[in-house]
This record gives sequence, structure tokens and C-alpha cells, in this order.
Amino acid sequence: MAVAERTGRNFIGGEWVDAASGETFESIVPATGEALATFPRSGPEDVERAVAAAREAFETWRLVPAPKRGEILLRFARLLEDEKDELAELMSREMGKVLAEAGGDVQEAIDMSVYMAGEGRRLFGHTTPSELPDKFNMSVRLPVGVVGAITPWNFPIAIPAWKLAPALVCGNTVVLKPAEDTPLLASRFVELLADAGVPPGVVNVVHGFGEDAGEALVAHPDVPVITFTGHRTTGIRVTKVAADHLKHVHLELGGKNAIIVMDDADLDLAVEGIVWSAFGTTGQRCTAASRVIVHRAVYDELQRKLVAAAEGMRLGPGWDEATDVGPVINRGAVEKIHGYTGVGQDEGAKLLTGGEPATEGDLEKGFFYRPTVFADVDPQMRIAQEEIFGPTTALIPVDDLDEAVRAANGIRYGLSSSIFTRDVNRAFRAMRDLQTGITYVNAGTTGAEVHLPFGGTKETGNGHREAGQAALDVFTEWKSIYVDYSGKLQRAQIDNVERPAP
Ligand code: NAD
Repeated sequence: MAVAERTGRNFIGGEWVDAASGETFESIVPATGEALATFPRSGPEDVERAVAAAREAFETWRLVPAPKRGEILLRFARLLEDEKDELAELMSREMGKVLAEAGGDVQEAIDMSVYMAGEGRRLFGHTTPSELPDKFNMSVRLPVGVVGAITPWNFPIAIPAWKLAPALVCGNTVVLKPAEDTPLLASRFVELLADAGVPPGVVNVVHGFGEDAGEALVAHPDVPVITFTGHRTTGIRVTKVAADHLKHVHLELGGKNAIIVMDDADLDLAVEGIVWSAFGTTGQRCTAASRVIVHRAVYDELQRKLVAAAEGMRLGPGWDEATDVGPVINRGAVEKIHGYTGVGQDEGAKLLTGGEPATEGDLEKGFFYRPTVFADVDPQMRIAQEEIFGPTTALIPVDDLDEAVRAANGIRYGLSSSIFTRDVNRAFRAMRDLQTGITYVNAGTTGAEVHLPFGGTKETGNGHREAGQAALDVFTEWKSIYVDYSGKLQRAQIDNVERPAP
């Protein structure tokens, strides 16, 4: 393996610095297995420095008028626009997704920054009447303090923006611990925030692994908010560690999302939606369609069309315009995905296509897995219950909508769902009955827009939502304020209660 040419650093208090230990790790190009850059492998000492910088910066940042904080986000959005092509190209190398999707990832960050810039002039609270005369009541949102943001690699620019843009406009400061697979993109992200005018200490980055840098951030007593996106099991660990300080914990975890295809669906459209949702980003989206629940009347035809589409997909590096499916993130992911192929076969599911790593030609150097379709899957099989996070989808035959909804809901996750039907009654029943935070009608399971709440029910999260106005709840405390201008003591619930005469 070639030695990485670039060296990245932590960003603390506006300075680029190495880890206190001097240890490093490498970011790897998943399409070739080559090293892209070297980054500091940080530990508790580095987290301590970053949190101290963020705490100090909070005292001034919280007093910057919110519209001014918003203007900085707007400048950041403009810089992202200028750098969109360069960032997309870098993402296709460091994370592996194809260029069009990488551009979409950056666009999400632009959209979120523009949206949250506008919040700088809203951040609405409420004014209400008082139950007492000459008294004024209102509630306002106030920042919480230092936010610890821990992010995954699959949306390496979008997800940091989903967290940092609302955190910053609300007046918090941030320590970001990005995924160890995509540190170069995280560094570029923060560099652009600094260029946009975010003052030193307001955003800090500590690179490294979850068990040391990540966990130190979650455990730090001066970090009252943790916003985390990643695996369910990591989310549980984060919750337990954060519990010692009763922190605000915001979790965006896994999914096992289903597309329902009814007998009246436009099948060609459904196949397009399945291909995009199951194999886009090589299946490595929290909203990926890893289950397809199909009415038996169209089951055979759908299988044929889907297999033909999957087999027509071209694997290759993300930066090659001809590529449909890029690599998965690392060698461990290939092994995990392939392990699930074995599980599916042992469980008696029928492997229709794929089911193996792709190694022809140059693919052999990288981490490629063929688009994989299983048929005759029982909803209780592990391949229909567990998140595989790769280009594998499972076809489940059903007889009617009730059975389809039962199968769709019969999992621990609740992120996204979809139904293809031309029947408005069925569509509305699905919108009501599918137990997910997001439901699409006649579209796949992916495609969220930044001004709507994003997140899931059940074990996909802990009841919070990212994006839209809902995101503000994670990053603010409500304060209720009562102003009494009567000049006398007025006791609520006592002085204004008229008692019936005895
Ligand atoms: P992961 O849980 O392995 O890692 C996520 C982040 O947590 C990384 O930065 C990692 O270093 C850190 N981490 C690991 N152990 C930690 C610990 N003990 N304490 C603190 N931090 C720790 O997940 P991943 O492989 O990066 O991402 C894939 C997962 O993310 C999938 O389950 C996917 O569904 C989920 N995801 C969810 C959403 C959503 O919005 N619901 C979006 C994208 C990805």
C-alpha cells in the first residue's frame, strides 16, 4: 500500500494540531484499498482540549445575535456551492459513493445550511396571556452549551451539516468526532466553516476511533448534548455512558426499511424505486430498502424485472461516470455482507442474483460486492430482520395489504417505508399504519428533504428528530419567562381563583 501523501490534524480553538499521543491512523480509498491521508488518533486528552476550547467560545458565541450566526451559515452554504464538485470528487474517493450521489450529499449540506440560516431570524418562541392582570408571559429558546456530535461515514458532508447547522444557529458550540473512515471530508467541512467566519473554538474536530475519542466525548461532564448517528448497538452504548450525567441524547440509528408493491402498482416504476433505494450508495443508507414486500399476483414479474436491473448494474470506482454501484466502505463490510448471504442461504431463502464479492479486473483491489437479491424470504428470517448495510435486498411474498403492513411493521426498527399502489385507499391506510418516521407513496424509501423532520420510531432512535424545525428541540432549552408589572405580589393558582360563597 502506498504511503498517504496528506496529513490531517485535529482542529481545536482555531488551530490545526496533532493528537497529544502523536498516534495516527489512515483513511483508505475503498475502491482501491490505497491510503488517502493520515489523521491523529485522538484520545481523552485531545477531547479535553477541544471541550475546553468549545466551553470558552460558548460564552461569546451564545451572545452573537442569532441572525448574525445565520449569516455565517449562509456564507458557509455559498462556500459549499463553490466547492461542490471538488467535495463530490473527494467523497467518491474517500467514501466511495458515485459522483451524482456525492453531489447530492453536498447539496443536502447546502440546503440544510440555508434552511438553518433562516432559523437565525425565526427561532420562534411563544407569547401567551397570563392568568393574572398586568403580567406578561413568554417562552424562548436558549442554547444548551457544548454539543458533542458523533457522525457516521455514509453521508460524510450531509450528516455533519444536519447536526452542526442547527446546533450553531441556536448558539451552541461544537466538538465533532467524525467517522474514522471519512476524516478528510470532515476536515474539509470544518475548514469551510472557519472560512465562512465561524470564530475559533466554536467548532472543533477531534479525529479518531469511537471507543476512545468518541466515548471520551460522550462521557465528558462539560458536554451536555450528544447528537449521534450510527449503529443501534453504538447508540445503546452512547446512551448508557451519557446517563451518568443525564445528558440530552439525540440518536439516529439503523433501519430495515420495506417497500410494499401491491398488485395494482406501476411495476416498472416500482423496480426503479427498488433499485435506487436498495443499491444506491451501495445499500449503505439508513433508509436503504433492504426488504421488498410484494403481492403474490405480481411477485414473479417483479422478480424478473428486478434481477435483470440488478444484473445490468456496473460496478466500479465512484469517480468513474460509468459506475452505477461503488464499493462498500471497507473490507470488514464486505465480510459482514457476505456473512449475511450465507445466513440467508442457510435459512432457506433463494438467492436470485449476486451473493458474492466482485473481484474481476481492478475491482479486486477494492471492496466491491455484487447487488444481491433473495427471494422467498420469510419475514422472521435474520436477513429480513437485521440491518445488513450493503447491496442486499429480500423479497417477501404476501397475499394482501394487511399482511404486507404486518410484515413491514414486524421489526425492531422504524425509519422509512414505501408503498407502490394506484389505489388511494390503500395509500392512505399505509400512510397511517406503517410504523415509521417517514413513508413514501409511489417512490422508494430514500429522498428526504431538509425542511421536514427526519428520524424513526422504535429502535431507530429515541424520539427526537433531525432536520426541519424539529431539530431545534435537540439543541435548545425552553425557558418560560413571567414579567409581573402590577407592582404587587400576585400568586398564580391562588389570587386569581374565585371561590364560591360559603
Ligand atoms: P457506528 O455506530 O459504527 O459509528 C458511528 C460513529 O460512532 C463513528 O464516528 C464511530 O467512531 C463512533 N463510535 C463508535 N463507537 C463509539 C462509542 N463507544 N462511543 C462513542 N462513539 C462511538 O456506525 P457507522 O458504521 O459509522 O454507520 C452506519 C450506521 O449508521 C448504520 O446502522 C446506519 O443505519 C446508521 N445511520 C443512521 C442514520 C439515521 O439518520 N438514522 C443515518 C446514517 C447512518
